[in-house]
Amino acid sequence: SLPLDSLRFDNRFVRELPGDPEPDNFRRQVYAACYSKVTPSRVKNPRLVAYAADLAEELGIAEEVCRSDDFCQVFAGNRLADGMEPFAMGYGGHQFGHWAGQLGDGRAINLGEVICPDGSRQTLQLKGAGLTPYSRSADGLAVLRSSIREFLCSEAMHHLGVPTTRALSVVLTGETVVRDMFYDGNPQLEPGAIVCRVAPSFVRFGNFQLFTARDDLESLKALVDYTIRNDFPELGEPCTAVYLQWFAEVCRKTADMVVHWQRVGFVHGVMNTDNMSILGLTIDYGPYGWLENYDPDWTPNTTDAQGRRYRYGNQPKIAYWNLVQLANALYPLVKRAEGLQQALQSFTDTFDRQWQATLAAKLGLSAFDADAGDEALTHRVLKLLQNAETDMTLFFRQLADVDIAGSADEQANAEFIELLQRNSYETLSEAVVEMAERWFGDYRKRLLSDGLPQSERREIMNRVNPKYVLRNYLAQQAIDLAEQGDFSLVWELLDLLRAPYAEQPERDRFAAKRPDWAKERAGCSMLSCSS
Ligand code: AMP
Ligand code: MG
Ligand code: MG
Repeated sequence: SLPLDSLRFDNRFVRELPGDPEPDNFRRQVYAACYSKVTPSRVKNPRLVAYAADLAEELGIAEEVCRSDDFCQVFAGNRLADGMEPFAMGYGGHQFGHWAGQLGDGRAINLGEVICPDGSRQTLQLKGAGLTPYSRSADGLAVLRSSIREFLCSEAMHHLGVPTTRALSVVLTGETVVRDMFYDGNPQLEPGAIVCRVAPSFVRFGNFQLFTARDDLESLKALVDYTIRNDFPELGEPCTAVYLQWFAEVCRKTADMVVHWQRVGFVHGVMNTDNMSILGLTIDYGPYGWLENYDPDWTPNTTDAQGRRYRYGNQPKIAYWNLVQLANALYPLVKRAEGLQQALQSFTDTFDRQWQATLAAKLGLSAFDADAGDEALTHRVLKLLQNAETDMTLFFRQLADVDIAGSADEQANAEFIELLQRNSYETLSEAVVEMAERWFGDYRKRLLSDGLPQSERREIMNRVNPKYVLRNYLAQQAIDLAEQGDFSLVWELLDLLRAPYAEQPERDRFAAKRPDWAKERAGCSMLSCSS
């Protein structure tokens, strides 16, 4: 038998939930079912681009197996390992605020649920492995560029401590895919690729919404009960009270996820309800981007340039809006408007409390203290970064090194202004320098009264302020090389981003401001989102 045949699968989703009785794979509406069985398409000439060795190990896949032809064939969808039962899920969703009806896994195919050596469970899912009943008018495929972006960002987020789906592998299919590029409108041939995503569950808010929209309470109840039993077993047997506790838990997990996004400067870009994981994991890396200069109005998604619904500063509000849609979907089952409303409040409570604690840690305070004026202090520093157009990541990281107690006022002040200028994308105006001096004076006073030793303050800050993030232009450079057949930068970034809080002095070039040439080439800015 082949190496991957030794993985242990236990496919509860397929076994316990209603499936689509239609055996043929064609585009259609699928009713009263959570999934349709499908087989990944065969591809011509699969070739491994990269894999995440640490994740493979967690799944029980040895590193030499990752380098084998068997691995490449299985994660290109050409071969099913023993125990795999591939299926695509049905779900709906609100896209940009509007109900869109049935969406579903249009190009994602779940292979099965692995029981890992440590007893935990992970579902493996191929993205870009061909058509499913949910493909609508699209081709079921993915291209190398978006696959590398998803692979690297999933792993970077995981190692940053942000709840996320993970990525095991990227393979080239050896086939070409047609994509419309936004900038000239002409079709473009691009190399096809497939990412293997990994998560305990890929269920989204939209899976529940679709059943309610169709008045299918039986399927809704089946999926809610399944999710509680398998993904939230600590809550106990499903009943009305447990439904409410579960929804409150989803609200808290979602709040926690968004706090982490705001902390590291991640902008998802397409927070539609079909892209919201029921486990509070970051899911569906499309036109996402990372803040360079701190700007709450920034969005990487050019299709959202008008309304900027999914801009950085709006992410907490949108997460809440999405939870309201989930509450509406659960209402026919729970029938307790007040209970759902109360659970929603736990989003706001969790978010506010954790965001304050996060800001305090980013500034190196022992705790957020409203009586000490921390509300204004944190608000003002963010305003300063916005006005000064300062690189968020570099600023917070380097702020830990400013000697607060050891140097005289003048000297500390000059050091701070120099830090701000060094990490800003524009020359500081006089007004900004004044604003900076005023803020820094108050910050320094606050730190002196807080009284943490410099080393301890630095440690608190460096735990929440990463040195290395997947800067938009770095991902683009890795893609440009990979399209020439050189995967070395994909590997190097993967390795770099496994330790984003560590000092990696030989790699300081990756902790630098966006170069001028990259300004117009950030992220997906000129590319369509579903690529
Ligand atoms: P997204 O904007 O990536 O969240 O995708 C929205 C919906 O479109 C989901 O149902 C996807 O599965 C589907 N979709 C996106 N791209 C493709 C594609 N190339 N082929 C088939 N379905 C797709
Ligand atoms: Mg999606
Ligand atoms: Mg997508």
